[in-house]
Amino acid sequence: MPKLAINGGTPVRNTPFPGYNTIGDEEKRAVMEVLDTGVLSKFLGTWHPDFYGGPRVQKLEKEWAEYFGVKHAVTVNSATSGLYAAVGAAGAGPGDEVIVSPYTMAASATAALVYGAIPVFADIDPDIFCLSPQSIRDRISTYTKAIIVVDIFGHPADMDEIMTIAREQNLLVIEDNAQGPGALYKGRYSGTLADMGVFSLNYHKTIHTGEGGVVVTDDDDLAERLQLIRNHAEVVVRGKEVENLVNMVGFNYRMTEIEAAIGSEQLKKLSSLIEGRNERAAYLTKRFSRIPGLTVPTTREGVLHGYYVYPLRFDAAVFGVSRDRFADALLAEGISVGRGYVRPLYLEPMYQKRIAIGKDGFPFSYSGYKGDVSYEPGICPVTEQMHFNELLTGDFCHSGLGFNDLDDIVAAFVKVVENISEL
Ligand SMILES: *Cc1c(COP(=O)(O)O)cnc(C)c1O
Repeated sequence: MPKLAINGGTPVRNTPFPGYNTIGDEEKRAVMEVLDTGVLSKFLGTWHPDFYGGPRVQKLEKEWAEYFGVKHAVTVNSATSGLYAAVGAAGAGPGDEVIVSPYTMAASATAALVYGAIPVFADIDPDIFCLSPQSIRDRISTYTKAIIVVDIFGHPADMDEIMTIAREQNLLVIEDNAQGPGALYKGRYSGTLADMGVFSLNYHKTIHTGEGGVVVTDDDDLAERLQLIRNHAEVVVRGKEVENLVNMVGFNYRMTEIEAAIGSEQLKKLSSLIEGRNERAAYLTKRFSRIPGLTVPTTREGVLHGYYVYPLRFDAAVFGVSRDRFADALLAEGISVGRGYVRPLYLEPMYQKRIAIGKDGFPFSYSGYKGDVSYEPGICPVTEQMHFNELLTGDFCHSGLGFNDLDDIVAAFVKVVENISEL
């Protein structure tokens, strides 16, 4: 008689898990107030008081800057827009290289490409899955202009070391903190640890406004450049008397008053949501750490994890089955777990075929680019090992889940482990 559901046994869980919903009466009231004004966005793409947007946008920016302890917060309509604006503000362009992570949402690398700069992939740290400082060092060339670091899964990268490297080499650092709002690094908020930090307010993230994002910086000049790129820079620079025209090609990355009003309410919920994620993670970690062959998430000293994703490492040699076979068995038990995260980005067709902007392979083929970037399989062996063999990722920490739900997740893991000989 098989016990495992994959072999015809009864699944541990046969009802769906509750979803994650942080939107309540506070957000509804805030939206109604905006609708009553009839003014859903107040930006004007010219040098005018409304260049900075309407009252809710400016209120959210003030609250965000105060909360995170930064001088400037610039709202945008997505973290993707925020990353693009940050690369633009950094002054990167054709001929430059930008060091990026291969193990992240695509935009954290694409941001370099849209300015004609070359993404150079460094490898990740096998414990926290963020860029490894040593690998960054190895990838720096005379063409390197900036580094885009990602606080992946909600754990801050090793920012002290990375900022030290950047200052030595005179590089700007952009911190993609889309997954880590509210996480802490040595008493400071992640997202505030570099020259610019990018937050996401997309629906899938810990707090959200449907779509949206925020870029933070302590630098007045970078803040001005971000605001210009957000809002039609090319027709504002004359009136504003801006002298540095590099990358002053504008976009419409503006947030609406509705999203800003929701964002103010969501920000109030952030610390309790992060606390709840940490309680759930601690509950799981206590139980998973009793299973030999599973490595529970690492939290570096001085870090409060954001637990956007709960990462586990699976040692196939201990279990005698592959990670993917194990994940199949969990799925049959009613537990959906990610096999790795996203495919290492350099393996995607855009990099493999070196076609990005236009048909002639710009910027890879640009004659002014003198570097020799590689996108060959194998350039980031840790990332490939994690993605293809070891890493399991779960959306196991959100506040929709009760401890009874977590018990089912753990029970499914234990059941598969105890009956692993059936696989
Ligand atoms: C979600 C995400 C983004 C993009 O956020 P959007 O607001 O959806 O554009 C960028 N980087 C990382 C690491 C993300 O997880």
